[in-house]
Amino acid sequence: MAFFRKKKEIPIGLWMKCPACGKMAFTKTVEERRNCCPECDHHMKVNGPTRVKQLLDEGSFESIGEGLTPRDLLRFKDEHSYEDKLKKTAVKSGVSEACTAGRGTIDGHPITFAAMDFSFRGGSMGVVVGERVALAADDAYERKVPFILIATSGGARMQEGALSLMQMAKTSATIARLRDANLPYIVLLADPCTGGVSASFAAQGDVTLAEPGALIGFAGPRVIQNAIKATLPEGFQRAEFLLDKGYVDRIVNRKDLRKELVTLLEYLAPMPAAATTGETAAEATP
Ligand SMILES: [Zn+2]
Repeated sequence: MAFFRKKKEIPIGLWMKCPACGKMAFTKTVEERRNCCPECDHHMKVNGPTRVKQLLDEGSFESIGEGLTPRDLLRFKDEHSYEDKLKKTAVKSGVSEACTAGRGTIDGHPITFAAMDFSFRGGSMGVVVGERVALAADDAYERKVPFILIATSGGARMQEGALSLMQMAKTSATIARLRDANLPYIVLLADPCTGGVSASFAAQGDVTLAEPGALIGFAGPRVIQNAIKATLPEGFQRAEFLLDKGYVDRIVNRKDLRKELVTLLEYLAPMPAAATTGETAAEATP
């Protein structure tokens, strides 16, 4: 009887809800739009491996520091141990830390690349995140190629205490070497980018790009409002506000990001004539 017909089951993950406008959309459609909402164009959070797929030339990526995984060095425990939390978050997020780093090419341009991942402990910066960023910056320095980094983070990782804060100095020092060697460092700030990351390697870009609507700042707006006892201007700490103030150089829609990076690479690090004439890079460099 039709009355008792079994309900059609919708496969898990077929639909998803946009966190900004609340509308439902086909997961496949959202993915095809580079994880942006088809209704309101909200830029959803994207993990490191997906960034690699969206931006780098297919098959060009070779990871750096993948074998390094976080450890509970301080034996931190609140309701659950940090070790348990790490295990759970690795399964849930599908990545081994909040930063994916490696070498690759974009439209043939050799680069070193790193992308942070908010789905792993809120993109917090622990020892391994700092080390992967530093190793990537060292790789760019040694190979004399540009370094492109996507930053999204809730800040330093509480469970790693001072060891986490030390990553600010370490990453900043390795990136300063790129500047000394005239190697371009391009940063894209994604939502949200706050705390220790915003105050170290995310703030050192030669070119600072941001995704539309991204929250960018050291402390959150509520903390600032309570501290200074004043009403904050509209759009405070959003990418558009910071573009207006000169902190961000350009806001780039995700659909245009790869093209934008290629333009910047052509401008800042044009490929040596060697690539076409067969000379070595060293011979082609004046
Ligand atoms: Zn939406």
